[in-house]
Amino acid sequence: MPLPAPPMAREILVHPGVRGYDAGRYLGAGAAMTTYTNVHGVEEAIAEAVRHDTYRLRGDVSVTGLIRPPQMAYLEYAHADEITEDVSDGMWRLLGSAVHVVLDQAKVSNVLQEEPLTVEIGGWTVSGTPDLWREPASLIDYKVTSVWSFLLGDKPEWEQQLNAYAALYREHHFPVEKLTIAAILRDWQKSRTHEDNYPPIPFMEVHPRLWALEQAEEWLSQRVRIHQLARQGDYPPCTAGERWARPDVWAVMKKGAKRATRVFETSKAAYDYHACTAKGEYEVVQRPGKNVRCEDWCSVSRFCEQKEEVDD
Ligand code: SF4
Repeated sequence: MPLPAPPMAREILVHPGVRGYDAGRYLGAGAAMTTYTNVHGVEEAIAEAVRHDTYRLRGDVSVTGLIRPPQMAYLEYAHADEITEDVSDGMWRLLGSAVHVVLDQAKVSNVLQEEPLTVEIGGWTVSGTPDLWREPASLIDYKVTSVWSFLLGDKPEWEQQLNAYAALYREHHFPVEKLTIAAILRDWQKSRTHEDNYPPIPFMEVHPRLWALEQAEEWLSQRVRIHQLARQGDYPPCTAGERWARPDVWAVMKKGAKRATRVFETSKAAYDYHACTAKGEYEVVQRPGKNVRCEDWCSVSRFCEQKEEVDD
């Protein structure tokens, strides 16, 4: 069946009254309440740019807010006045914001850029601002990320985010047939391009699977329900995926070397490999796993009872 022709860009339907509306501090707007430290003495102009967060939530929750762990979202709400962050932790966010501003200024034809969209779901207004929609039916989101993060590949939150954005556009009668993550790789090194699977340039694209509209609507409805309950203090613990949990691994190392010769997911595999090497020169070193988000990327970890449990 032929797709309907998209309306002209300016005809896009934006939910009345939501442009610029700040619904409060819950789920994504908590950063506005953050108290910043600057313990490393970062140059004040840069520090102030990190502190100067212009984000304002439209409606009740954003698409990215829905993706966040409900427990984290609740704790950010409950402890909004107590959250502190050092400006040095905001550097990657600042870089990502700067790239988005520059890209938004690029003049390209037949696109909608940073168009704020909303839909009503389960009594909440859900908002999203996709980076780019291009005629006839492409949705593109920019990421500034590490090579490591990109090569890990399995990024369910990227697939969720783009499919939720696609649902917002489709609800506003814009077709979406293709999803693209366009990633700028911030730590790419030319000297490593000879390695297997290492990207040849500091840019990569991936194309997340496009869901049927019904699947995206169901996902949105479920996440709205989960976050509505979380707002009342009823939330599930963060899953291993949400904690960015990395299991223990075992490295076979040449004695005195800084890098592992091989890394294994089980001690048996590591010792089997070790048995086949010149044993005297090599050793097996256990590298403890960690919950990366809890340790380094969760602003409410000090209020989180689950973190205490997983640390024990
Ligand atoms: S500290 Fe970990 S478990 Fe607790 S809210 Fe943050 S991410 Fe979730």
